[in-house]
Amino acid sequence: MSLIEARGLAKRFGSETVLHGVNLSVERGEIVTIVGPNGSGKSTLLRMLAGVLQPDSGVVVHAKGLKIGYVPQKLALEASLPMTVRRFLDVPKRVSEADAQAALARVGVAALAKRSLEGLSGGQMQRVLLARALMVQPDVLMLDEPTQGLDQQGQADFYRLIEELRAEIGCAVLMVSHELHVVMSASDRVICLNGHICCEGTPEIVRNAPEYRRLFGTGTQGALALYRHEHDHVHDESCAHEHEESH
Ligand code: ADP
Ligand code: MG
Repeated sequence: MSLIEARGLAKRFGSETVLHGVNLSVERGEIVTIVGPNGSGKSTLLRMLAGVLQPDSGVVVHAKGLKIGYVPQKLALEASLPMTVRRFLDVPKRVSEADAQAALARVGVAALAKRSLEGLSGGQMQRVLLARALMVQPDVLMLDEPTQGLDQQGQADFYRLIEELRAEIGCAVLMVSHELHVVMSASDRVICLNGHICCEGTPEIVRNAPEYRRLFGTGTQGALALYRHEHDHVHDESCAHEHEESH
């Protein structure tokens, strides 16, 4: 049985239909990445799959007892809380000292336990959030644009850590990104979203799909070079009308 199965998902905000007709499932142990332009509904979809946002139509089914470690996209509030890293791991549920230390050490920030969240760098904060998500011993790690604001080396390092954790814990990983190339190479399966699923499959299949190239033709090369030395320079904006940039 799938860990998560979604059928016929649709979501509107006011008069705007953000998502429609979305079917997808997440299987045990796989790394699935959702890519799409800004405003294409990625965070909305992740929140519905996590069960924190109700769809207007369709259903999300979780495997019995499913544990989700969720790292949201918006961190502004949390990052400004005057709280130590160690205390932050006790939110929302108190955890043992041993578990907290082990998680911080595993993601490479053991030395930050007594530091305040205020003043952490973007990369440090991402690792602290990841450590907190690990506290539930997740069957699925959900990460919404986890490397936003990191430099290319930082992005590559972070994705490598995610792959290692997946191998160690055996959790599935569902990631959202628009830093395409790196996440694609770190993924078993890529879902290209733009209000609906435009195309999906292995990274190779998606990379060569016309729907993907229309959306991301000239795409970011980003940290690609750190993973593999391939470049795509396709100039095709013909899918752009489907989507208005939100900012
Ligand atoms: P992405 O994560 O792909 O950038 P989002 O899922 O955040 O996209 O948003 C998709 C669209 O839905 C955007 O137009 C956004 O403004 C709108 N939206 C998202 N959340 C809300 C909300 N809570 N209320 C109203 N509109 C929203
Ligand atoms: Mg988003």
